[in-house]
Amino acid sequence: MVFILAGLVLGAVVGSFMGVVLIRLPDGRPLVMARSACDTCDKELEPFELVPILSWAVQGGKCRECGSAIDCWQLAAELGGAAIGALAVMLGTFPVWAMLLGWQLLLLAMLDLRHMWLPRQLSALLGASGALFALVMGYWADDMMGIALSLVGGAFGFAALWMLGQGYQMWRGQEGLGGGDPPLLGAIGLWLGPLGVIHTLLAASLLGLAVAFVLWRAGQKITSDTMLPLGTLLAVAAWPVFLWQGF
Ligand SMILES: [Zn+2]
Repeated sequence: MVFILAGLVLGAVVGSFMGVVLIRLPDGRPLVMARSACDTCDKELEPFELVPILSWAVQGGKCRECGSAIDCWQLAAELGGAAIGALAVMLGTFPVWAMLLGWQLLLLAMLDLRHMWLPRQLSALLGASGALFALVMGYWADDMMGIALSLVGGAFGFAALWMLGQGYQMWRGQEGLGGGDPPLLGAIGLWLGPLGVIHTLLAASLLGLAVAFVLWRAGQKITSDTMLPLGTLLAVAAWPVFLWQGF
């Protein structure tokens, strides 16, 4: 119970930072060195206003100075981060690794959903941590097979989406995949191996269909050109696959 609570709190803090990254990174604003301030009036935040989730609830989602609404994504990032922290403790065999993967995926999922943007550096970081995970696991179990599977998974994930993108381009004469999608699935493959890549693709497809169905029921027009952010679907699908694999 204590550990679940710790995961929850740690996740909320990490999520709070990711919310700042999510809102500021695309504008090229400084992330770390600047004091936290209201995005509208630039009023510096008091220490108690930095407490994730709770401060939102107390302030009613508004800046105390200018009354402008605090970006909803900030709260979403904090809630998502907290949920991942708690779930990793409850369901994960290796909670710290599960958190490390989950938080990175959450940030990438939100960046793609909000900005249609998957920064290569973040995918590279995800891939590097996946390779490290395979190395540590392989060393710990004294079995180098896992490292080989990780590398194959990385290559397979990247190649699968890259070829899909090329094929789509030849068929439709337009770009169907974002350039950031193949590196993302490659990085996921380094964590999950080739079978995990297949499971992630399947789960992402089902999730995409479910989302499309919900949008359609809500009265939105769905055509073959409807853009669903593939990166978001992949990132959301990959985490349960990781846990399901027994990690
Ligand atoms: Zn303000």
